Amino acid sequence: QVGLAAFDSQVAAAIADEVARQEAHIELIASENYASRAVMEAQGTQLTNKYAEGYPGRRYYGGCEHVDVVEQLAIDRACDLFGADYANVQPHSGAQANAAAFMALVKPGDTVLGMSLAHGGHLTHGAAPNFSGKHYHAVQYGLNPETGEIDYDEVERLARSHKPKMIIAGFSAYARVVDWRRFRSIADEVGAWLMVDMAHVAGLVAAGLYPSPLPHAHVVTTTTHKTLRGPRGGLILSANADETLVKKLNAAVFPGQQGGPLMHVIAAKAVAFKEAMSQAFVQYQQRVLDNARAMAAVFLERGYDVVSGGTDDHLFLVSLIKQGVTGKDADAALGRAHITVNKNAVPNDPESPFVTSGLRIGTPAVTSRGFDESECAELADWICDILDVLAERGNTQAVEAEVRDKVAAVCARHPVYEAPVAAASR
Ligand code: PLP
Repeated sequence: QVGLAAFDSQVAAAIADEVARQEAHIELIASENYASRAVMEAQGTQLTNKYAEGYPGRRYYGGCEHVDVVEQLAIDRACDLFGADYANVQPHSGAQANAAAFMALVKPGDTVLGMSLAHGGHLTHGAAPNFSGKHYHAVQYGLNPETGEIDYDEVERLARSHKPKMIIAGFSAYARVVDWRRFRSIADEVGAWLMVDMAHVAGLVAAGLYPSPLPHAHVVTTTTHKTLRGPRGGLILSANADETLVKKLNAAVFPGQQGGPLMHVIAAKAVAFKEAMSQAFVQYQQRVLDNARAMAAVFLERGYDVVSGGTDDHLFLVSLIKQGVTGKDADAALGRAHITVNKNAVPNDPESPFVTSGLRIGTPAVTSRGFDESECAELADWICDILDVLAERGNTQAVEAEVRDKVAAVCARHPVYEAPVAAASR
């Protein structure tokens, strides 16, 4: 059989270019990480060939005896890792895990209460262009503009006046510890389900370094590829689901939202869960936190506003309102210096969501490649060097070139994968 490079040089070349980009650029997108070779190896196997609609021991197809082993391992490990007694490892993505949780817990047209996209929630938490905003009556809460923290009093007020059937907690851009208990007591007061989407902090939760939502939420959803550092995918968990809820959740994933599960991805999830049980993983997550704090401290020292004044997790938001710099321009200038971040709305943002006045910066990926606190502090200084010139309305070309050289040197010191993963030849 012909290999990829020989058969399709165009795709092989694009993959090789992406591998080179990942090695040579600094990745600060808070939702990204580098999966291990073992995870990628499991994902690149013949398990991609297998149809396995249904669940272990109850399939609609023959020949499932080995993939049943894989899926059961993934389920058992997910339960062990998070202290859950129910896990569904089949959702193809975080968005599909959330769609399944909606389908299991509420009916189209029901009122749901989630954090708005502009304040750090996810699209699937009730944003207008998403299924969650189109098919449900979505009410949105946000941050207290003074503190930059979740306005729990507003959540309570909105819950009392709108009587949602479900409250969604969890975020894509929030640097503080969420009070899951307070969310649960608000949900209980109005008779709502509490769904927690812990996608961003799942790795920290697994390591015991961020409070677990499992004891408080009826249903917890997550992705497996962010701080958790597994393959791209979704996961649904519960520590207290009764038999009826378990049936509803399973039926919502299959056949409700999906057909055949991606067994190669489920194998990779099982590997990632095993990795996450190690002491090395706990130490990694501690370094993620230390690195995020080290970076946020530099921004504060250099006169930049960090939303909520710092961070308790793997990310923080820099507000550039005071400097009059847009997130869009900052993102582009840093990109030219081979530092990848993303523009992000901040509280009281005068700019549109496409332009914004902020940056979201996260440390899971740089920590995976071995950056320590002093290297992260130095990196924050380079970012500030570029932002300072942008704020002075100067030409950023020279500073971008200087930073680009420093980025190349530090990346060479810390290869992501010791040898290129896809050594595709052109
Ligand atoms: N939930 C949260 C909180 C997220 O931040 C994201 C993605 O960034 C998702 C869900 C969606 O995950 P996916 O991109 O796998 O659909």
